[in-house]
Amino acid sequence: MLPPSPIIDELLAAAYGRAESHHEGVVADYIPILAEADPEAFGLCIVDVQGGLHELGDTRTRFSIQSISKAFVYALVCQEFGHEKVLDVVGVNNTGLAFNSVVAIELNDGHPMNPMVNAGAIATTALMPGDTPGQKWDAILAGLSAFTGRTLDVDDVVYRSEAATNTRNHAIARLLESYGRITHDPLDVVDVYTRQCAISVDARDLAVMAATLADGGVNPVTGTRVVSAEVARDTLAVLAANGLYERSGEWLFEIGLPGKSGVAGGLVTIAPGKAGIGSYSPRLDSAGNSVRGQIATAYLSRSLGLNVFASA
Ligand code: GLU
Repeated sequence: MLPPSPIIDELLAAAYGRAESHHEGVVADYIPILAEADPEAFGLCIVDVQGGLHELGDTRTRFSIQSISKAFVYALVCQEFGHEKVLDVVGVNNTGLAFNSVVAIELNDGHPMNPMVNAGAIATTALMPGDTPGQKWDAILAGLSAFTGRTLDVDDVVYRSEAATNTRNHAIARLLESYGRITHDPLDVVDVYTRQCAISVDARDLAVMAATLADGGVNPVTGTRVVSAEVARDTLAVLAANGLYERSGEWLFEIGLPGKSGVAGGLVTIAPGKAGIGSYSPRLDSAGNSVRGQIATAYLSRSLGLNVFASA
């Protein structure tokens, strides 16, 4: 059980203050437009499984969802095809390698090792229902919109900036194709994946998305079931193992909750059965995880008693 609302607000303010004093980390620039983000922007939001909202700072500042989309697209694909079939195509083990590693594919005979790094995420996007890239895209946008409870859209500037520079993802998709892991046109798949990463959200959206997974797949704000409780559970297990790139072990050790970061500075954290946390702060550590997001979430996990491994 979470404490009463005024206590949550107090702890949120303490988490915010603690994280705000940190200025280390750098804004991502490998996608050129991301470098223009305000490094001081910081929003922090908790949505509980009753739909109660607690927020502080820049929670309505929009940014691109980037890698956080991977978690929710994976959930949609599992919902459509079931855990077993998806596991045939994309694994669940941590790669211990950077998010955009090509080695992760080669090491495992073309079986992408998890859906939270680019190789596995691109293979997951290819699995989305639909015969054409347009149909897959429509299913992704509708699915992620159901997770947030509002109609989402793409940040076209971010999409174009990444589309003009993502040769590495093209290479990953070609390699997946060579192993028979992608059967659609790899460039079309990367295009849908790039759009998915450019979907524009804010910290509040992320908290609602996280709360939907915390609530067994039901969006607690709209009351809509987006995925089954089993799919929510399986997605959280994959996030616990892989959500923070090659820092996933350290994150789980410190925070004890499934989470997923994105290179624009977003971070979602899920306290199963309790709440979702969404944050935005664009300064990243060397693995691509928001520095302030991690500090604030660690404080909230400890002070709200959210660590799933704690017995008391
Ligand atoms: N669109 C980014 C890429 O594929 C997402 C990376 C991330 O957030 O980790 O490079």
